[in-house]
Amino acid sequence: MKIRMLIIIVQFVLIIVLGAALLTRYVVFGAVEPMVREPKAPGESTLAYQPLPPPRIPSDTISQLVKFKKNFTPTVEKVTDRIYLARGFALGSVAMVITDDGLVIVDTTESREAARAIWERFREITDQPVRYIIYTHSHRDHIFGAPVFYSPGVPVIATEEAVKMMDLYYRELLPFIERSRDNQSGRLAPGFARPLPMKGPFKHELQPELIRPTITFAESYEFELGGTKFELRHTRGETTGHLMVWLPEVKALFPGDLYYESFPNLSTPMLEQRPVKDWYEWLDRIVAMEPEYLVPSHNRPISGREAVREVLTWHSRGIRYVYDETVKAINEGLTEEEAVEKIHLPPDLAGRWHLAEVYGRVDWSVRGIYRALTGWYDGRGAGLNPLPARYVSREVIALAGGADKLLARAIELQKAGEHQLVCELCDMVIRANSKDKLAHNIKAVSLEYMGYQAKNLNVFGFYRSAAALERQAAEVKP
Ligand SMILES: [Zn+2]
Repeated sequence: MKIRMLIIIVQFVLIIVLGAALLTRYVVFGAVEPMVREPKAPGESTLAYQPLPPPRIPSDTISQLVKFKKNFTPTVEKVTDRIYLARGFALGSVAMVITDDGLVIVDTTESREAARAIWERFREITDQPVRYIIYTHSHRDHIFGAPVFYSPGVPVIATEEAVKMMDLYYRELLPFIERSRDNQSGRLAPGFARPLPMKGPFKHELQPELIRPTITFAESYEFELGGTKFELRHTRGETTGHLMVWLPEVKALFPGDLYYESFPNLSTPMLEQRPVKDWYEWLDRIVAMEPEYLVPSHNRPISGREAVREVLTWHSRGIRYVYDETVKAINEGLTEEEAVEKIHLPPDLAGRWHLAEVYGRVDWSVRGIYRALTGWYDGRGAGLNPLPARYVSREVIALAGGADKLLARAIELQKAGEHQLVCELCDMVIRANSKDKLAHNIKAVSLEYMGYQAKNLNVFGFYRSAAALERQAAEVKP
């Protein structure tokens, strides 16, 4: 009996000791990881480098920019006797609906400065007071001009989801949102030579005042003012909190940013993925409503049922094509890179004037859709527990015989115009040693060249900003 007791006690003590030992091992050392030796950083490169002369804008880009500039000439367009659209004063437009009992303002542009100029022009048309303000969504180019149109007591309408996005963007994530905006607009490049049109539309304010919505809704909201009916619907697409405004009597539709004159920015590179499927499904629903007038929040209004139907139908097809092809690529086991290489708009879609990739891009959309629908691991092993990128970069640089070797090749490639490859080689050196000034400098030059070759507004901005950051790191003045 005593012996059995003794055995039980010994077993108990052993379990406690072993358990404690295992626990200590995990607490002190963490889970078992493969041992990897961190390679040594390479020394700073010492090559002589004569930068290329500053890039010039290609002539076809200039003609494209002139067209763009024309689109941003301040204009107040009369859509019907009671609907006016002010566009070209800034990036975002403002629509005004005149009723027998005052005005409804749909979207408010991005700054008080632009809004004031618009309000002055509206005042030449009518002296009625503003009764309602509607935000189609939470993006800054639609809301920050509101103080000009607002007076206490005027209801401001948005979806519940839009208010959540305002809190996310302009409170919780504000520093990042500002940074991503500066990256996209090219504003990180203050000393950078600015091609003409870039001085134009952007009128972002440093400390904008947010007029918060006072009426919010989940799915739909209707009201009547001065004999005119307004039907608002929550239409996910450009954002999850997007809405459209429908005037059933005149069949006028305000789609917000569900339609503008470009392949849409389905996945803006630095921000959250947008609901792509909802986007084309809502366009299809809008087509079924047979609008006679389309009054978007950027670009020109469109009049005539057939013209509206035509544009929206093709717009929806373009979005659906990219979505469906990306889903197919995922199911077939293609990697994100392979999907991006494979998917392009077919000629009947690519040839549509309103699907030109001047603002959004198909390749960015494929990446965004791919990432939104899948997890971060590709199933191929190395990506499950990757090393910090500097490890591989340092190995490769050591094998090549030093950073100078990689940068010498980058300089050759730069002369040959292979700027993306230049950036990737420079990044390999920068990852291995972030203080390598020459790598930053060579990369800045190639980024500038890529920016000037861009046919897309956002690409242009992103490259300009990235070049400015590299110049800063290289301690080279622009
Ligand atoms: Zn917008």
